[in-house]
Amino acid sequence: MKYYSTNNPAASPVTLEEAVVRSLAGDRGLYMPAHIPVLDKQIIRSLGDMSFHETAGLAAQALFGEDVDRDALTAIVEDTLSFETPVVHVHDSIYSLELFHGPTLAFKDVGARFMARLLARMIRRRGIDRVVHVLVATSGDTGSAVANGFLGVEGIRVLVLYPGGKVSPIQECQFTTLGRNITALEIDGTFDDCQALVKDAFADDDLNARMQLTSANSINVARFLPQSFYYFDACAQLCRAGKAGELIVCVPSGNFGNLAAGLVAARMGLPVKHFIAANNRNRIFVDYLKTGKYVPRPSTPTIANAMDVGHPSNFARIMDLYAHDRDALSRFVSGYAYDDDEIARTMQRVFRDCGYLLDPHGACGYQALNDFRLAPHQTGLFLETAHPAKFKQTVDRILGGNIDIPPRLQAFMHGRKQSIPLGPDFAGFKAFLMENA
Ligand SMILES: *Cc1c(COP(=O)(O)O)cnc(C)c1O
Repeated sequence: MKYYSTNNPAASPVTLEEAVVRSLAGDRGLYMPAHIPVLDKQIIRSLGDMSFHETAGLAAQALFGEDVDRDALTAIVEDTLSFETPVVHVHDSIYSLELFHGPTLAFKDVGARFMARLLARMIRRRGIDRVVHVLVATSGDTGSAVANGFLGVEGIRVLVLYPGGKVSPIQECQFTTLGRNITALEIDGTFDDCQALVKDAFADDDLNARMQLTSANSINVARFLPQSFYYFDACAQLCRAGKAGELIVCVPSGNFGNLAAGLVAARMGLPVKHFIAANNRNRIFVDYLKTGKYVPRPSTPTIANAMDVGHPSNFARIMDLYAHDRDALSRFVSGYAYDDDEIARTMQRVFRDCGYLLDPHGACGYQALNDFRLAPHQTGLFLETAHPAKFKQTVDRILGGNIDIPPRLQAFMHGRKQSIPLGPDFAGFKAFLMENA
């Protein structure tokens, strides 16, 4: 498969390896697969007969099969998806796709683990002698997923940039206590500052001459595309429950990698009738759907902090998928946005009436699906993107309880925090990289 840049689709495309190692195209566009493979209708109809590994293997084969041989790809997929992603009934025709049963209890484990394994394979085969530096900007969950996905992988060093004081203590310890090939950089700024530092680093000639840089944010195709896998399995699970007739899928969104992957799955033939993007107060995308104008803004902190993104990277991919045609996009994707009070009320109501514990991100997804008003023959599925215990302080305050922290999360909290404080200016970050490469 070749990959082109969203900024210049007509320019000559690059290989998978170049797309993964470079992350961002030279013109700062995002890479997209040159063609999106469409699965056989017969196969789509038989999804319900397949296991998670089988559906994921099928999607992986279609997307990466030209570049990675079958056995290696099967091993990468099985190793990536060594945990469950169950579809759970909440009430009426609303279901939750729980993507939080992986090592760091959030959906980003899928893309991060896949990318770590694919990149490690590329490094082994190419015999790259320089260490590959993976830069990752995080508003909380990406850092932990990437750090844990890449922990101990030979030939790779991970630098996690996070906004100091703006991630939850549990999130912070998941990437600041690991040591080994993981370094945490505590930036005195916002998530958008962290993301800008990473993007500037890729555009900087001195740094690129000095070190091999790549990114594990959802700008990277190796993180973004594997996120399409679980949409197939969700459909398979709903098929088995006899509920996959007309499916509406709602995705709590920040940087829009997850939604973009869902849209790719739909292009591959997955029978989804309509998508919904759920935003918190950072409603850039929802406003775009309403007004046709894309106006990036500095992000505002909310209780659904993994979605506090003011300039979503994958907007470029969504525009590309719909040829910059807002009307075409809005026929297939709707948007809703919620402030913190609305999120809190949703969490309280769903817990009281259905006994289901939502995290603040999933709550946006649930509420948007609710406000969309499903027709009687439709099934609604929202992505529950993280385990509520990752936001324990917020969840306990809102629900007046004391939720248990799963043992996997507790283990992180015993480690010692190690991070390096840096300012939000590029000069300081660059100097740090030049000295420490
Ligand atoms: C990252 C994240 C999101 C947003 O996903 P995007 O792909 O960036 O839109 C939503 N919820 C949680 C818990 C996350 O960690």
